[in-house]
Amino acid sequence: MLFPYKLVTIAFYTALPLLFFTACQSASTATDNRCQFDNVKFDTDFSTSRLDRCQQLSETRFLLTLSPENTPINDSAWYAFKLVTESPQEVDIVMEVEGGKHRYLPKVSRDGEGWSLKEYTLRNQQLKMHFAATDQPIWVAGQEIIDNQDYLDWGEALLAQGKASHEQLGLSTEQRPIMKLEATRGKEAKEWLLVLGRQHPPELTGAMALFPFSEVLLSNTQLAKQFRQRFNIVIIPNLNPDGVEVGNWRHNANGVDLNRDWGKFEQAETRVVASYLERLVTSGDKIHFAVDFHSTRKDIFYTMPKDYGLQNPQMAAHWLDDLDSQYAAFKVIQQPGNNPDIGVFKQYIADKYRVHAITYEMGDNTDRRFIDNLAINAANSLMQTMLASKPVE
Ligand SMILES: [Zn+2]
Repeated sequence: MLFPYKLVTIAFYTALPLLFFTACQSASTATDNRCQFDNVKFDTDFSTSRLDRCQQLSETRFLLTLSPENTPINDSAWYAFKLVTESPQEVDIVMEVEGGKHRYLPKVSRDGEGWSLKEYTLRNQQLKMHFAATDQPIWVAGQEIIDNQDYLDWGEALLAQGKASHEQLGLSTEQRPIMKLEATRGKEAKEWLLVLGRQHPPELTGAMALFPFSEVLLSNTQLAKQFRQRFNIVIIPNLNPDGVEVGNWRHNANGVDLNRDWGKFEQAETRVVASYLERLVTSGDKIHFAVDFHSTRKDIFYTMPKDYGLQNPQMAAHWLDDLDSQYAAFKVIQQPGNNPDIGVFKQYIADKYRVHAITYEMGDNTDRRFIDNLAINAANSLMQTMLASKPVE
């Protein structure tokens, strides 16, 4: 696998024991929006970093407040910062979410690449952590960090291996590149599989699944080669680079949820993809299937109903049934739904092109090795399922 970051072994941490500290007996001393105090600094000078306010409660105790880019928004309180001390010091952090709840379990890293879980307590929406800081920075974040550069590096690596093209599809609201990777047979293959990712910046487990999933599609196995004889593949791994850059909870630079904009197309990011698909179809090509990667509280696959009048009506169900049959102790949950006019990607693909599309959701706390395992099997199973399906008309 070609992962752009070092995966660490994070075991099933839903089983983490919660230890409860005594409640914070605070007397505020100083607030600093730059989060710079005498011997302690909470640095947010890197891509994806986010920390909204810092307050020193005592010499060693700090209150960090997380707040969203705008409201209303769902509770996905992202944070990423570096704890920097000039000399060794004990540091106690109390983290609160303004107007919301914590979603992510804290993780730490010595280099911003390899991550492990951090001990914490959570009580009354106060998340508390203790650090014995040295003079080396400690990265602290809600999930492992995958930033815009990681996507560019991944695309360039696949390009260098001859696995896919890697080109700019268009620009985001703040003029960051939205990239696409493609494996095509030119005029010989008419049908397309579309893979989409990172509409929602902090949904890292979905982002993690997209890499192995895509790499299997682009691999040189017999199945993948056969698949690419019939199907073209386009992968748009990072649709919201502006939100990723500043650690947004969910929205793009305009404060809009991209996965509520499909059909309205008020945002540059969705328009870039929609006009590209339109160009493909106008030139005689067909969209056959689409997969959109996200994260939520559990592993679940949102599909369109079998009786929605789409071509190859059983395809998504056949795929996910087959994937489910490969696991004795894991249930592939399919949740069919039809929500017109909300602006969700899968619904747009279904309504516009009359084919199935799914939202592939990984749980926030799903074991990272299992995310890989499932994505690899899902990609192989999808290729077999699509090869057995009828051509799209
Ligand atoms: Zn999402």
